[in-house]
Amino acid sequence: MAVAKVIVDLALDKEFDYAIPAELEGRVKVGTMVSVPFGSSRRDGYVLSLAETSDYAGKIKPILGICGDRAHVPEQLVTLGRWMADYYCCSQEQAIRTLLPAAVRSGKVKPKKRRLYRIADREAASDFVAVNAAKPSAALRVDLLKSLLSDGAQPIESLKVSVPAFSNSSLQTLVRKGLVETVEELVRRDVFGEGQVIPTKPLEPSPDQKKALSTIRKMLDGETSSHVLLLLGVTNSGKTEVYLQSIAMALERGKSSIVLVPEISLTPQTVRRFRARFGDALSILHSRLSDGERFDEWNRINDGEVKIAVGARSALFAPFRDLGLIIVDEEHESSYKQSEAPRYSARDVAVMRGKLEGAVVILGSATPSAESMYNAETGKFLLARMAAQVDNKLPPHIRIVDQRLDGPPEPGKSTFFSRMLIEAVRDRMNRGEQSILFLNRRGYARIMICGECGFEARCPDCSVSYTYSKQRELLSCHLCGGVIPAYRECPQCGSEKIRYAGVGTEKIEAAAGAVFYPARIARMDSDTMRGADDYEIVLERFRRGELDILIGTQMIAKGLHFPNVTLVGIINADLGLSMPDFRANERTFQLITQVAGRAGRGDIRGEVIIQTHNPENETILYAANRDFDGFSKFDLEFRELLDYPPYTHLITVFFRGEDESKLADYATAFSGEVRKYVHDEIRIAGPSPSPIERIKGKFRYMLVIRGRKMKILKQALRVLALHRPVPKGIDVYVDVDAQSLL
Ligand code: ADP
Ligand code: ZN
Ligand code: ZN
Repeated sequence: MAVAKVIVDLALDKEFDYAIPAELEGRVKVGTMVSVPFGSSRRDGYVLSLAETSDYAGKIKPILGICGDRAHVPEQLVTLGRWMADYYCCSQEQAIRTLLPAAVRSGKVKPKKRRLYRIADREAASDFVAVNAAKPSAALRVDLLKSLLSDGAQPIESLKVSVPAFSNSSLQTLVRKGLVETVEELVRRDVFGEGQVIPTKPLEPSPDQKKALSTIRKMLDGETSSHVLLLLGVTNSGKTEVYLQSIAMALERGKSSIVLVPEISLTPQTVRRFRARFGDALSILHSRLSDGERFDEWNRINDGEVKIAVGARSALFAPFRDLGLIIVDEEHESSYKQSEAPRYSARDVAVMRGKLEGAVVILGSATPSAESMYNAETGKFLLARMAAQVDNKLPPHIRIVDQRLDGPPEPGKSTFFSRMLIEAVRDRMNRGEQSILFLNRRGYARIMICGECGFEARCPDCSVSYTYSKQRELLSCHLCGGVIPAYRECPQCGSEKIRYAGVGTEKIEAAAGAVFYPARIARMDSDTMRGADDYEIVLERFRRGELDILIGTQMIAKGLHFPNVTLVGIINADLGLSMPDFRANERTFQLITQVAGRAGRGDIRGEVIIQTHNPENETILYAANRDFDGFSKFDLEFRELLDYPPYTHLITVFFRGEDESKLADYATAFSGEVRKYVHDEIRIAGPSPSPIERIKGKFRYMLVIRGRKMKILKQALRVLALHRPVPKGIDVYVDVDAQSLL
């Protein structure tokens, strides 16, 4: 007897065995949506695998039926889910769960339907009209029938329009008499709203674009050695146009496409470009969709109504059956790595999905990750370069200021701004142009220190300093969100000599207000941008020229397009370089490049001023020279020397718990087990407290494993972390290809 393993309700985290009855034999496949008896009710579920026999001791019940023709997850996606569970050391359920949006999985969201009225019996209806045409008492019924006879099926709302004297009781009388009947029609919730978009035609490709497109054409036709292309092109080199034309080529071959963008790039601007080229045959998957909309979009894709899906990370699992192309834009973005289980990288899973389904994968970036560059250099990926900006515009002029030499303009004045930067901003103000001042605040906020005893205000639950906000007179923790009123005197010694160290955007804003008076200034960071609309409001003011200077953190580094911004100042480029993380150089290079890209998007050439205390730092120099290749070579050499990815695989194991000694004991025992599988190609460090020792009252220990040939070790980790009992109060998780070492 054949057996199907079915996930009925994924919240149970368990699969159940059902017998496949003879009449369904051959039709129940992996991914098929089936109806099964569950307890005393009937439920729908998905088949995860098929087996010859069941291990279940009791009698297994039979599947009741298959839910429709197309209601199933493509088998390749189930295969992908199984690969993810294996590769990322997570449970099968966690992996399969990510394949389906919660709105589809839960079964709570129903398709939206509307009721239409239509003629049930044409002959009888026409007779009724003929016989009663002159009778005033039947006038309303006659009008209703006439409208339905001539215009066909319609909802009540439209009957109300065509028959002004409409009454529902007359309509229901016609239904009772069998002249009119109701039918249900499926309605898709409209995610685009009313906005009209002017259609665009493909642009005549530049020579670089032509070369990239011809490679992609060969890839689509299966004539290349690899199915992955790294598209390395500066901002404005025309990558998006290449994406659009590649999707068109896939469509010509009857194939569907998925476009992944970082959530932050999923702006109306991006969406508009895809809609303008492909119309509404496009599904947009972003985090603001309601459950109903998400349900409908998934079904539109699953039913083959659309052939293109654009979205953030999870759009990778769009249930296309004829996938031809996956595009991962800004492939280096760390947001492609999910921070909860399954801790998958959408970029890497995209490469795997492409392989499983014979689809082409394009990874696009101006600053590709070391991993992708390495794969391009070793021939695992193909490489296409697009060097020039489409409009042949000159890239911004970049200057470095050594802040150690360039002191304050006048004694006692703020040292945040070098003379060069102050002059440059004032120039822009005089000319009616705008400036952006950028501060990478991560890991370097204003902290509160006692000038007497050295006490530093720290969050008691997380091992980090509190960040001080002057505006609100508060100390807050950026890890747990905890907030307390700022101390007026030192809680340790009672002294009132409280100092604030470090530079936050708030302090920069205050200093800028004084230095650049009477500039109109706004600040954008997670403290000022609290409401959903705050972001749009400030950007709109900036766009309209109501602000001279925009000050901000990472939030303003990406994607903003303001032609009147001709100057970008990076207040302190060194922040981030000192993070205890081997990706610190890479992140700094990417950040400087991105921020610099905000300058000179209009007709006037932009200028970028980088302030630093380390003007000889290689990363800063490469970024200032726009030398990605130089940087990439430098960074890869550094990683090779120290045995970091992409030369090794990196796996971290995190242990969390409130009782530190219990946690340390468990982590040590766990590591002892893992060490049995370590050979000379593997290095293991720890367990030791993580650089951020506590978050939300929980201690954190970590084990860092680097190496080649980790298959067996990974299997061991899987058993240790998922199948062995873990002491109460402790949790442990494995992060494969970890992005963060904090
Ligand atoms: P990227 O995605 O690399 O930043 P885009 O594809 O957005 O670059 O192109 C930048 C700008 O140049 C856009 O306004 C786009 O419409 C325009 N553009 C792109 N390709 C061409 C082309 N072949 N001919 C003319 N304009 C182009
Ligand atoms: Zn003190
Ligand atoms: Zn905290």
